[in-house]
Amino acid sequence: MTTLWEDNYRKRTVYPQLEEKILIDVAIIGGGFTGISTSYHLQQKGIQTAVLEQYQIGSGASGRNGGMLNTGYKLSPGELIKKFGLEEAIKLDKYALDSNEEVRKISEKHGIDCELVQSGHIGLSQQLGKAKAFEKSHKLVEKHFNRKTEVLTGAALRNEIKSDYFKAAFYDPLSYQFNPLKYVSGLADVAAEMGAHIFEHSKAIKINKMKDKFIVTTDKGEIHAKDLVFATDGYSNRITKELHKGIFPLASFIIGTEPLNEDLLDELMPNNRNFYDTINLTNYFRRTPDNRIIYGGSGIGYPAKLKYKQELMTLLTNTFPSLENTKIDYFWGGIIGATVDKFPVIGRTKTGAYYSVGYTGHGASQSTLHGKMVAQAIANEERINPIFENIKLKTVPLYQQKELLVSAANLYFRMMDKINN
Ligand SMILES: Cc1cc2nc3c(=O)[nH]c(=O)nc-3n(C[C@H](O)[C@H](O)[C@H](O)COP(=O)(O)OP(=O)(O)OC[C@H]3O[C@@H](n4cnc5c(N)ncnc54)[C@H](O)[C@@H]3O)c2cc1C
Repeated sequence: MTTLWEDNYRKRTVYPQLEEKILIDVAIIGGGFTGISTSYHLQQKGIQTAVLEQYQIGSGASGRNGGMLNTGYKLSPGELIKKFGLEEAIKLDKYALDSNEEVRKISEKHGIDCELVQSGHIGLSQQLGKAKAFEKSHKLVEKHFNRKTEVLTGAALRNEIKSDYFKAAFYDPLSYQFNPLKYVSGLADVAAEMGAHIFEHSKAIKINKMKDKFIVTTDKGEIHAKDLVFATDGYSNRITKELHKGIFPLASFIIGTEPLNEDLLDELMPNNRNFYDTINLTNYFRRTPDNRIIYGGSGIGYPAKLKYKQELMTLLTNTFPSLENTKIDYFWGGIIGATVDKFPVIGRTKTGAYYSVGYTGHGASQSTLHGKMVAQAIANEERINPIFENIKLKTVPLYQQKELLVSAANLYFRMMDKINN
């Protein structure tokens, strides 16, 4: 399942396997956006880090996602205000915008060529009636978050997407898109240049907490570190009890078309936005710089099966019937870490290790700033937004049967999405 991003990026640095014993300030497990950003920000403070990645940098969700850096959270503006109160919701909205800005600033500062562009995003619905809910969000964003969004129906919507499949939409101009693998690999190279020790094909298989240090063991080596960070999100498995209990691993899949005629793409999606369907199990699509369309969505279980590919092809042609005979060059999948609250959490395990997980499909932008906050926590500095540390990672009900539960949850949300659309 080679991703489009891997095929487009052949200059990836190969990092060694850990084959020795290392003493370091901070050990980080997971070489995705969160782990690499934490490493980068700690190195900047002069705190030495070692990153362990079980496969290659970006092999998890960070190198496999749709590359959409959308503003906001899985929760709508109204849900955000209801859950956290107006004052916190305003800070959280700003945090989400700052997350995108952080990615932009870092990429520019270090010349990370990750095809970052401000594209805006469009949340879609097949139901015209959803325009009312979009109108509510639009008014809340304008009044409380002091920024402009738009509700699109009819001709205004047709100007953005040439499809009769969707009837109402919500447009936010402040979102970005990028090539996620180029970003995470580029940032890893920057962290390495700053002194970070990065190891690939080095799975953490055992963790011991001694009095004043953690010992992380891999197949061929060992890291002794004062602090430990789990940056394993949807891939956390049973690495610690807290994450095993608190993370829902949701599978998501993407197809990529063959390169299409640019004129056709200009007709279908002239403004190059990030699009997603605002149903529970979000489907999402966008153009790519090499003139393809990638179309993603959530399926039941992992690894990917051919029937999900077929489902995505059906969605693509439902959206754009003229693409019926288009060849599909790519099909891949990955795992999203979701929480019961559909909200990311920064926390500590009983043994004192840090974790930052549960972006629930919004990690492309938020995980860079979250990594910065984990670094602030380790350095005992004031955090950009302490609220993420005040949220408890709730236990997923019946977590022992997580695989079954994930399938049941997917089936349930699919059913609800069918009833409501
Ligand atoms: C198909 C797909 C599409 C998505 N699209 C978008 C999108 O368009 N926009 C958006 O905002 N978000 C999207 N997401 C979600 C986003 O990619 C994630 O939120 C984000 O990448 C999380 O980053 P992370 O570094 O926390 O975790 P990951 O990138 O998942 O990294 C965790 C890493 O930990 C490693 N690991 C686990 N256990 C061990 C161990 N024992 N030892 C060593 N290493 C270990 C894994 O191999 C993995 O590389 C998508 C996700 C998927 C799967």
